[in-house]
Amino acid sequence: MTVGVVRETAPGERRVALVPKVAAALVGKGVPVVVESGAGLGALIPDEAYTEAGATIGDPYSADVVLRVSPPSDEEIGKLRSGQKLIGFLAPRNADNQIGTLRAAGVEAYAVEAIPRISRAQVMDALSSQANVAGYKSVVVAADLSTRFFPMLTTAAGTVKPATVLVLGVGVAGLQALATAKRLGGRTTGYDVRPEVAEQVRSVGAQWLDLGIDAAGEGGYARELTEEERAQQQQALEDAIKGFDVVITTALVPGRPAPRLVTAAAVEGMKPGSVVIDLAGETGGNCELTEPGETVVKHDVTISAPLNLPATMPEHASELYSKNLLALIELMLDENGAITPDFDDEVLAAACVTRDTPQEVKV
Ligand code: NAD
Repeated sequence: MTVGVVRETAPGERRVALVPKVAAALVGKGVPVVVESGAGLGALIPDEAYTEAGATIGDPYSADVVLRVSPPSDEEIGKLRSGQKLIGFLAPRNADNQIGTLRAAGVEAYAVEAIPRISRAQVMDALSSQANVAGYKSVVVAADLSTRFFPMLTTAAGTVKPATVLVLGVGVAGLQALATAKRLGGRTTGYDVRPEVAEQVRSVGAQWLDLGIDAAGEGGYARELTEEERAQQQQALEDAIKGFDVVITTALVPGRPAPRLVTAAAVEGMKPGSVVIDLAGETGGNCELTEPGETVVKHDVTISAPLNLPATMPEHASELYSKNLLALIELMLDENGAITPDFDDEVLAAACVTRDTPQEVKV
């Protein structure tokens, strides 16, 4: 049983599926690792670091299990063979996903997005590990684009008030954004449509913005708002947003376009020099004026919607992702060091998206 690590080809993708330390752990368990030459370069990891860890440099597609970060291109799918296992982000919720093509090619594909969000699977939860990176980086980007300080400063030249930071949508990324903004000295406030989040928001030293809408859905996710609720929310947020220097939005509803939380009128009401960071750009954006992948200035407010923020921190993002994959592979390993997934295990049954009886994807 061998494991292959590909060199990513998606534009801007700098992460690698396995860092040398984690490759060494697999080799130590009797699982040989084959790494495509240059696979780690985006994360500044040379081939030699892999060979020193006990891996070999070669064709990752010759392995029994192929590991990757971003979804494969059509050309990369063409390199896979029937019976081979593939593990990576496969975007199963996207309308244009390649699950059908992978299934037709006989590939046994595991989408990390489909790993259930249950306590036992936390160590494999790549959505969370990468959302943590995105949440942290969103604040760093906001601080960079802001015309103002985050912390309160008392200096001989006068006192500067701390920045006020509002995070809309407090899942994993939002909670990390609140914690990071607090560490930078900002005065933080969080808002979500799931009332249970209030306690988590307060636990990271932020205030809870209560707009009186409860849209808790299934499995810990939010449901889509009704027309009426959406209008009520947009109006209430328009009033609230005026008072903030920085607004970071992370609101998502599984399988749906990103909810519109910040209207053009809300942006117009913000002070000149304020910043909106929209982490929902990949599904259309939470702000009406967002241009996914771009940073634009509208009404003297900078609106930035960076795509794939985890790829901009490839070292730690890859390290965390590698550990998620190691835990998933360990779940598939039998006592003889063979990779034999047991589909009675709910984690593996859910993660494998190409079985004959495909599971409903709960992401
Ligand atoms: P997500 O990325 O799907 O969404 C981000 C946030 O946006 C969510 O908190 C959601 O409630 C919020 N949101 C959606 N629509 C909104 C709207 N109209 N207005 C305001 N906010 C809105 O969330 P996530 O980070 O993937 O977390 C989803 C759930 O999974 C959470 O309950 C989280 O605690 C849970 N979780 C569990 C585990 C685990 O136990 N293994 C691990 C990670 C996350």
